[in-house]
Amino acid sequence: MSHQSPPVETGAQLIAHSLRSLDVRIIFGIVGIPVIEVAEACLALGIKFVSFRNEQAASYAASAYGYLTGRPGVCLVVGGPGVLHAMAGVGNSMANATYPLLLLAGSAETSAGPTKGAFQQLDAVSLLAPHTKFAVRPPSLEGLPQAIWDAYRLAFYGRPGVGFVDLPADYIQGVPREVVRIQRVGEQPRVPGDERRVTAVAEALKGAERPLVVIGKGAAYARAEGVLREFIDAAKIPFLPTPQGKGVLPDDHPLNTSSARSAALAGADVVLLVGARLNWILHFGEPPKWSAGVRIAQIDISPEELDHGTADPTLSIHGDIASVIAQLKTQLSNYHHVSSSWSNALSTSAAKNLAIARVKASTPTNPLTYHRTFALIKSTLESLSPGGAENLVYVSEGANTMDISRSIFTVSQPRQRLDAGTYATMGVGLGYAIAAEMAYNYTHEAVPSTPSIRKRIISLEGDSALGFSLPEIETMSRYRLPIIIFVMNNGGVYHGISDNTPTWGADWWDGDKEGKRRDVLLTSTALGFETGYDVVARGLGGRGWRVVDEEGLVEAVREAWDHRDGPSVVNVIAASGVGEKLEFGWLGKEKGGGSK
Ligand code: ADP
Ligand code: MG
Repeated sequence: MSHQSPPVETGAQLIAHSLRSLDVRIIFGIVGIPVIEVAEACLALGIKFVSFRNEQAASYAASAYGYLTGRPGVCLVVGGPGVLHAMAGVGNSMANATYPLLLLAGSAETSAGPTKGAFQQLDAVSLLAPHTKFAVRPPSLEGLPQAIWDAYRLAFYGRPGVGFVDLPADYIQGVPREVVRIQRVGEQPRVPGDERRVTAVAEALKGAERPLVVIGKGAAYARAEGVLREFIDAAKIPFLPTPQGKGVLPDDHPLNTSSARSAALAGADVVLLVGARLNWILHFGEPPKWSAGVRIAQIDISPEELDHGTADPTLSIHGDIASVIAQLKTQLSNYHHVSSSWSNALSTSAAKNLAIARVKASTPTNPLTYHRTFALIKSTLESLSPGGAENLVYVSEGANTMDISRSIFTVSQPRQRLDAGTYATMGVGLGYAIAAEMAYNYTHEAVPSTPSIRKRIISLEGDSALGFSLPEIETMSRYRLPIIIFVMNNGGVYHGISDNTPTWGADWWDGDKEGKRRDVLLTSTALGFETGYDVVARGLGGRGWRVVDEEGLVEAVREAWDHRDGPSVVNVIAASGVGEKLEFGWLGKEKGGGSK
């Protein structure tokens, strides 16, 4: 840190210079008093500012940008209500443990006593401290750079999470007496694992009859794909990705057991758990989904996560995934797993499940079902995409949409599939899609070198999930982002509505001009079936299609692909509760064919 005479005239400029020193290229947020000056000062320094319509979506976007780039995404909001809305992204980032976020929020002047009732006054530090890794109001305007540096560093060092800096209006508008210059935060040191533990895990794997590697989104975040691929190719151990661990190794890898998920979990005797927690997504590592005697060796950057639940405490390794896998690879250099019975059991189960899925995907349906719709979208997109599946990035949310699409849209690259995640947060989709567009195609911070072909961002949305962030279609239009959104419109939450949905007569309503009365759907899951998401999209500056059959769907995918100047929304009128047997796999109750 060096001290220089101030070329910086305001607190707002001091903040902007600090962010630029950290090499921040883009900020997601919404301005208002007093942070508008901060955003303008950032823009003047060449930092992009993406203005959203709701802080909730902006905070989701910033955190996803952090996941995709490995450095904290930055979100700038106003105080009070702005902070409350952004708390959605704060909670989501902390829950996902791989979505680093730096939140900056304006606040009332420091001279305002706590009960004065100043403009948008809120004690944001007290509110956020228990929900972040670090929350601070710097002691003075001059302390801003140091506070921003600390919050940024703490957001991604150790287990990723949230750093928060409160920006009082008088700091933003004040004149700094001195300017502290900060440096870019370096890469966090890659912590290797304790060699004795690594040996113990290597021995356990060698002794296993039915070994399994479970790959979580921590491995994707750690960019451990190269070494993990070498490890698995050499050791020949079957692997199972979690929903966002998909793509760390390509889905079509011969050792991928996704299509035999239940059999893999129930059969494994030694499991190497790489960057995933034993939470609901993995059924807590408990029977009946897992075998009672399974030994689980967990690798995690967070020591607090280890020795928890059913993991074997003697096999826990604290360390960075890429480093620990490299160590394991060395220790197991002369080993590879040979078991025909285990691999036969897995491939038999996979073949059965794949056959069921293939029938569902290939049988023409009317009305459109989820399986058939996704199969058609996938094949059409892959035929249009110059790089095939490699250039498609998927965002997916909504219970059924996410569950069913997960196994259909296979991915071959890491960090090319985002979903509702650990918190099962509905409403993240449009923010995530915008973040992906920026990280892959605009700043290119998600990719090592500028690619020749742009990645196309595809958002698969349930109608309920989409509703949470619908106005962000306008954000996409304003920045001319060619995101393609598919809405699975089944008229509501989960199964939506069906012919059996009870109604009440709207007695309090006199009827329309002809005196006709309309019944009102009497269920908590129903949403407007007739909602014109395609019409809304057009009204918000994008393009829209409403499709009810296979031909119309394929045609819409083609036209949406050709629309490069803004978002496209395809409103798919899908079979509601009556049309398809629904799987609630996302709550872990799926039977047989479900796969994560
Ligand atoms: P999933 O949703 O795929 O099951 P989780 O979110 O449950 O994954 O787990 C991700 C885990 O990855 C977290 O426990 C987090 O601490 C860990 N993690 C994040 N970065 C690293 C890293 N570089 N090395 C090791 N573990 C990491
Ligand atoms: Mg729905």
